[in-house]
Amino acid sequence: TTFSSLQLAEPLNRALQDLGHETPTPIQSQAIPEALQGRDIMGIAQTGTGKTAAFALPTLNHIITVEKDAPKRSARVLILAPTRELADQIAVSVRDYGRHVTDLSVSCIYGGVSINRQIKRLVFGNDVIVATPGRLIDLLDRKAIHLNEVEVLILDEADQMMDMGFIHALKKIVPILPKDRQTLFFSATLAPAIKKLSQQFLTDPVHISV
Ligand code: AMP
Repeated sequence: TTFSSLQLAEPLNRALQDLGHETPTPIQSQAIPEALQGRDIMGIAQTGTGKTAAFALPTLNHIITVEKDAPKRSARVLILAPTRELADQIAVSVRDYGRHVTDLSVSCIYGGVSINRQIKRLVFGNDVIVATPGRLIDLLDRKAIHLNEVEVLILDEADQMMDMGFIHALKKIVPILPKDRQTLFFSATLAPAIKKLSQQFLTDPVHISV
């Protein structure tokens, strides 16, 4: 497979060229066509396999190609990650792959820093929000963030989120999202608890394991 055969929007192909990504990795060549079709995905993949681009590229493609008539107030894409470090890395990657996407706004939300500053930035609206579950709950409780317009939900390193005790936060966040969203679920392992969680969050998913 080549990136051009994946038929991504032109700004994304340009970013891939800038970044020197020539050939999709296995998780990318398997996940991207399915995600572009709007399918839910259950992906078993480790860090280093290129899974960030596997969810970032089809998601950015959705933002570019699916018009939204409402003004930008709340997030269209929500990405959940276990740690501040990973959330930051994901935000950097999304901005990198989205560098040629006009007016793309990506915000990162995590605990341990001033919540007021994060609230102020959220007022302006974001296309993509990358968040750790605990801080996101805080912002939801303060009604500082609205998730009623989320079109794509991504869970990265779901097994690590479970290990860190975020199960209750996840079970609080996911049910308030629109039912007709697309969900991309990634985990390094498929432990029974992960399988059960994925069954609650996903609809007729494509299973991919690399
Ligand atoms: P990840 O598994 O998402 O953490 O990505 C691991 C590293 O691989 C990152 O530094 C990416 O920039 C790089 N990468 C991802 N996809 C590709 C690709 N198709 N070609 C070359 N490098 C890539």
